[in-house]
Amino acid sequence: MSGAEPKSSHREFRPRSPKGRARLTNERLKDEYPEAICELDHRNAFELLTATILSAQSTDKRVNMVTPALFERFPTPEDLAAADPSEVEELVHSTGFYKAKTRSIMGMANALVELHGGEVPGAMKDLVALPGVGRKTANVVRAEALGLPGLPVDTHVLRLSKRLGLTEETDPVKVEMELNPMVPMAERGDFSLRLILHGRRVCFARKPNCGACVLADFCPSAAL
Ligand code: SF4
Repeated sequence: MSGAEPKSSHREFRPRSPKGRARLTNERLKDEYPEAICELDHRNAFELLTATILSAQSTDKRVNMVTPALFERFPTPEDLAAADPSEVEELVHSTGFYKAKTRSIMGMANALVELHGGEVPGAMKDLVALPGVGRKTANVVRAEALGLPGLPVDTHVLRLSKRLGLTEETDPVKVEMELNPMVPMAERGDFSLRLILHGRRVCFARKPNCGACVLADFCPSAAL
């Protein structure tokens, strides 16, 4: 058998619309990655928000190496807001851009204390008003820690959505708006996590491994 044989065994149905492809992508990736796990270690919304801010231009693995000591020292927004910035800088140093990240996480913690009673708010408008928090981070926290609909669009989600013909848009917010109605509200966070996993393991940016891809039989970009 050729090494380029698609991995999927369901080749009879080729959806023609973006929504149909999104639905089938969701189904196939659920089988492929039954456990959609957020790879940033966290115990609550505050920790996930902090870890996600630290993950910019870094890796989840690297962030997971620094957060245990950070959260041990500053377990609550109140603790972090009142920290000595130089101590925080030292703790987050290895994630890169440590001065800016220290400003962001301390500013975020301060805003939680001052404006939200020390809790992470759920509304998108409140989340994106926090220092260092953009729409992607807000959606991560909504979906993974608050049980709210959220479809984070990162570089993997952008690339796979384009290749799979789910959208023609390139702006992350527009992509999110196009994908949202294609995916059940309660499944949006997991859909994003699974696209990210698939992007890391199979649909690589430079050389996608279409021969091993469970979406190859209907993906318009499949190179088989
Ligand atoms: S481009 Fe290739 S690896 Fe990526 S989703 Fe399509 S078939 Fe799969």
